[in-house]
Amino acid sequence: MPCKSMLIFTKIAELKGFLKQIKSAGHTVGFVPTMGALHNGHISLISISKKASNITVCSIFVNPTQFNDKADLKRYPRTPEKDAAFLEKAGCDVLFMPSVEEIYPTEKKETYDFGYLNTVLEGKYRPGHFNGVAQVVKRLFEIVEPDKAFFGSKDYQQVMIIKALVKQMHSTIEIVNCPILREEDGLAMSSRNMLLSEEERHIAALIPKIMEVAKQLALIKGVDEAKHFVNKEVERFEDMKLEYFEICDVDLHEISKIDPSVKAIALIAVFVGKIRLIDNLALN
Ligand code: AMP
Repeated sequence: MPCKSMLIFTKIAELKGFLKQIKSAGHTVGFVPTMGALHNGHISLISISKKASNITVCSIFVNPTQFNDKADLKRYPRTPEKDAAFLEKAGCDVLFMPSVEEIYPTEKKETYDFGYLNTVLEGKYRPGHFNGVAQVVKRLFEIVEPDKAFFGSKDYQQVMIIKALVKQMHSTIEIVNCPILREEDGLAMSSRNMLLSEEERHIAALIPKIMEVAKQLALIKGVDEAKHFVNKEVERFEDMKLEYFEICDVDLHEISKIDPSVKAIALIAVFVGKIRLIDNLALN
């Protein structure tokens, strides 16, 4: 039973009241948490949720606790009116746009233990990031209580964190992993792309191309050759700085050899100017 036009809530109590009615009428709820500055990647999650649920709720909340770099939080793009219009057009039923005070009425810190997952890749380079992600997603899950929640595999490690969180919460929410949407030139869609200058945007388009060559090199010549290539390629551009490029198994343990029978994934984090971009590519 999709709503006729999209409803917008800013208060938890009002959203909960509405969802209670929806659920008591037997409808299922799909949830897409976002930080706004929406693009077609986000909208693809809305479309997947709409197919899998009776009602789709999207949240827009730029979560301060997941930003380990305060300058990054400050510059994070915010386009609420445009986002609301985009969601309405996509057929989203409910938009939840709470304030920071609504989500965090107290400054109570929560700590989560994700073990190994929190020590590698994004966990290693963005200390505290996943703790903040877990804090906000747990809060949002407790508010929305969806049947299913939809996340993009562009944030591969984040999906693993959310799955671990749901287990720790003893929750029955089904976490659905959705494919990466890309621009025509292959760059993974990201809210951060709009912060790139024209020149930086051209350079950023090299990321998926470098990843594709690295994939072939990894498969034909080995992991070390692929890593060497990526380092050398990124070094060629003054405006690019590699944070990591790793080849891992699906559990994010680094691997040094590709075994055709074991799934492998390449993951990258790279600065283009001041903007940090991530991407990943399945190798086999
Ligand atoms: P964000 O607003 O960046 O926190 O992202 C909200 C959700 O959209 C997360 O689950 C992301 O993984 C997902 N997402 C972001 N970019 C893409 C993309 N290019 N394709 C698919 N999903 C994406």
